[in-house]
Amino acid sequence: MGTFGNPDIVEVETDILIIGGGMGACGAAYEVMRWKPDHIRVRLVDKAAMERSGAVAMGLSAINTYLGENNPADYVKMVSNDLMGIVRDDLIFDVGRHVDNSVHLFEEWGLPIWKQPGDEDKALKDGGKPVRSGKWQIMINGESYKTIVAEAAKKVLGMDNIQERVFIVKLLLDSKVENRVAGAVGFSNREDKIYVYSANAILLVAGGAVNVFRPRSVGEGLGRTWYPVWNAGSTYAMAAQAGAELTMMENRFVPARFKDGYGPVGAWFLLFKARATNGKGENYLEINKAMLDDYPPYGKSHVPATCLRNHLMMKEQKEGRGPILMRTDTALQALAKSYEEEFGPKEAKKKIKHLEAEAWEDFLDMCIGQAGVWAGENIEPELKPSELMPTEPYFLGSHSGCCGIWVSGPEDLAPKEWCWGYRSMTTVNGLFTAADGVGASGHKFSSGSHAEGRIAIKGALKWVLDHKDYKPSLSRSPKDLAEEIYAPVRTYLTHKDYTTAVDINPNYITPKMLQFRLQKIMDEYVAGVSTGYVTNEAMMNIAVSKIQELKKDSEKMMARDLHELMRAWENYHRIYAGEAHLRHMLFRKETRYPGFYYNMDYNFVDEKNWKCFVNSKIDVKTGEWTAFKREHKDLVPK
Ligand SMILES: Cc1cc2nc3c(=O)[nH]c(=O)nc-3n(C[C@H](O)[C@H](O)[C@H](O)COP(=O)(O)OP(=O)(O)OC[C@H]3O[C@@H](n4cnc5c(N)ncnc54)[C@H](O)[C@@H]3O)c2cc1C
Repeated sequence: MGTFGNPDIVEVETDILIIGGGMGACGAAYEVMRWKPDHIRVRLVDKAAMERSGAVAMGLSAINTYLGENNPADYVKMVSNDLMGIVRDDLIFDVGRHVDNSVHLFEEWGLPIWKQPGDEDKALKDGGKPVRSGKWQIMINGESYKTIVAEAAKKVLGMDNIQERVFIVKLLLDSKVENRVAGAVGFSNREDKIYVYSANAILLVAGGAVNVFRPRSVGEGLGRTWYPVWNAGSTYAMAAQAGAELTMMENRFVPARFKDGYGPVGAWFLLFKARATNGKGENYLEINKAMLDDYPPYGKSHVPATCLRNHLMMKEQKEGRGPILMRTDTALQALAKSYEEEFGPKEAKKKIKHLEAEAWEDFLDMCIGQAGVWAGENIEPELKPSELMPTEPYFLGSHSGCCGIWVSGPEDLAPKEWCWGYRSMTTVNGLFTAADGVGASGHKFSSGSHAEGRIAIKGALKWVLDHKDYKPSLSRSPKDLAEEIYAPVRTYLTHKDYTTAVDINPNYITPKMLQFRLQKIMDEYVAGVSTGYVTNEAMMNIAVSKIQELKKDSEKMMARDLHELMRAWENYHRIYAGEAHLRHMLFRKETRYPGFYYNMDYNFVDEKNWKCFVNSKIDVKTGEWTAFKREHKDLVPK
């Protein structure tokens, strides 16, 4: 039996290892079981419990990507415009042509999808017309969305092949074959056990990153963020440390959401047709419209890019015309009026009651903290508007952001330099990724992430079948790995009696304190909330040196229990994800995403010199980062 400080080491052999249990992983688990020969072993490892893990944990009220009557080329155009022109059209088109099938499966597995009157009993796959809240979004009763999707994955893969509550710390390269993944190592956050996996192929789908930047909610509000707190940049950090090429890590997402509660705004804007105004009641999107002329073509399209919409909002706030208000009151009153005219007062009353219930449910089923704010502040949305605020930055590749890993594209669409044989393989042989892991292809959302997990695992399976004689040879011994993983525990046990206050000690730093330090650096030097999302090269260079110091001090992190050990390792991942972001921002000599961040040395979009991918790589032998350009191509006419 392992004890705290002396964990058991368990070695596990598999053919395919799936790291993560979110939407991408669930899609992969479902799909691999349809194709794999019996002898191929698959194992899925999640740091949490799949039923409620990852970004869909609490549920959602809309599936944001369902093409239906739309075509994939238009989808590519929309994504490209929203991400300021630099995306991989091949990857996006591929998701677009497959995503609806995942949504049809969700419905078959029991997910309630809203339908147009008359089509209530008709499945989407049989032509049932969904209620759309926007061109690409469909409304669902999604409180149990993740449970439903996870249940299907668990059922096909079987719990014998799934390990929950195991946090993966790093990927292991092969000691004999150059640039080839051979396994991974992690630890249980429930028992004193280290798991060392050897595998022929790995699908790394551990989501995006939150809490790299200091959040707006601190002190009593600590823990509240828009992005779910469980994803700590593991995908980007582990891939980078294994030598995989990253792409567009300078991209970040700064969602404008309900202040303090971080509640979703999509249904309010799209379904309830609410407007946002400045503190004077003016439609700031309208009065600041001319600012969009500086950013053609991204500002000129029917729906300007998300970062540019933030850009207009931030102008109001900086110039003292806040607060920005979501006019829930006037939206619901206008709807009530139109119902009265159409259906008469009695029927209208019923309908508006139903609508108000939906408005509350929009929060209750995906962001209960927002319902808490409304209840706590006596806000009746039909009577009182709510404040909106741009949040702290997050890293993700499947929502309205596009940072991530550079992967091989579909053979029938990708130009040869974007395709190296196995779909979704990174530049490290045998290592695959999907969903938030894939860079330069945002707007997949929950459904597209599931679909992309399905696409990626087929690439991984093909790799395994083509390399069936491969025998993994791990670059490090299990004992050595266990020592490294449990170092924070040893640090604590060795020094804990040196002082009487357990968290104040000259020999160690708590994970919480280290996290605060990282967040302070990122916030104050890398265009966080406190500088109004503004930075420059001199500031970023300070951040580079502060992060090097932080890395040295991070070796002194301690852990008092398994939970804190996970916090420590999450921090190691956050540091790498943050550093990747910083190094990419320093390399890109322009401000590609005004409204997400401003590099004041180059506060403009430079289409001539910088309409290209920025990629980076760590040299696994020296640990050195290099950033470089890769040519961009439009495959779909824009
Ligand atoms: C706040 C928010 C709201 C959203 N709203 C919508 C919406 O309304 N509609 C919509 O369609 N989409 C929405 N999305 C998008 C959707 O949730 C994501 O696109 C999707 O979940 C991404 O899938 P993923 O597999 O990459 O990551 P996730 O689903 O987040 O899964 C990541 C998994 O990795 C695991 N993990 C993390 N680190 C480790 C580690 N080190 N070791 C082992 N396991 C690890 C986690 O436990 C989790 O299981 C929203 C996303 C966010 C963040």
